[in-house]
Parts: sequence; C-alpha cells; structure tokens
Amino acid sequence: MEELKVKKIINGTVIDHIDGGKALLVLKALNIPEDKTVTIAINVPSKKKGKKDILKIEDVELKEEEVNKIALISDATINIIKNGKVVKKFKAKLPEKFEGILKCTNPNCITNVEKIKSKFMVENKNPLKIRCYYCERFINHIEFI
Ligand SMILES: [Zn+2]
Repeated sequence: MEELKVKKIINGTVIDHIDGGKALLVLKALNIPEDKTVTIAINVPSKKKGKKDILKIEDVELKEEEVNKIALISDATINIIKNGKVVKKFKAKLPEKFEGILKCTNPNCITNVEKIKSKFMVENKNPLKIRCYYCERFINHIEFI
C-alpha cells in the first residue's frame, strides 16, 4: 500500500510532533491569517509518541515568541522553511508571558467581565503556575478560549 504523503511546502512553517489530536487547538492559538493555506494531519503514526499531529502553514514564518505559546498545549518541533529547505528548527518552550489562548479562571476577573484580551505570566514551569496579569490570581485549570 502506498503511503499518503502531504506535499512539502516551499516557504512557511511546519509544526511537527504535536500531541495527537491537539493540532486544532494549536492552530487556534496561533491566529493565522484566514487567506493562508494550512494543511493539518491528525493522528499520524509516530515512533516517538505513538500518534502525532502535524501543521503546515504556507507563506507564514512564525516567530519563536509566537510559537512558544503552543507549549501550553503540547510540545512540538517547529521548522521554518525557506525555498524548500529547513532554515531554522526549534522546540516550543514555555513563554514567560503570553496573551490570549487561555481564559482566566476567576469569573470576576475583568477579562471575563469586560471581554478584555487575557494576559498571563508563567511564574513556574514545573509544576506549571500561571498568574493572570489583571486579577493576579493563579489560574487553577487550563481553559482555552
Ligand atoms: Zn484574571
């Protein structure tokens, strides 16, 4: 049986080794312009993880700071592609601060009451402790917007 291959991209960003089933959450966290071509592979067999997801975003070079937000969702390897070649490769690592993606778990927080974009600081990575910039409380569970 011939393996179905996703075509290689010439320019853009490939996010590989995403935990199986998490690609859509990752895509949502990244705010990719609507007119860009995105290829999503979900639950591809992987030696390392059993199953993994892959996201290919054409003609968008994601910045390291932007990509690091996805470390909140899954670990992942990011490849920046130019003229068909990988010019940069790195792992997503937890940022020190980030905006959006998560909801503050304090229902009285201004970000929940007035629809202000949420903003957080990562105060500890292991165990993960995330503090809301506005109400200064630690979020008690991860809830994606
Ligand atoms: Zn808050």
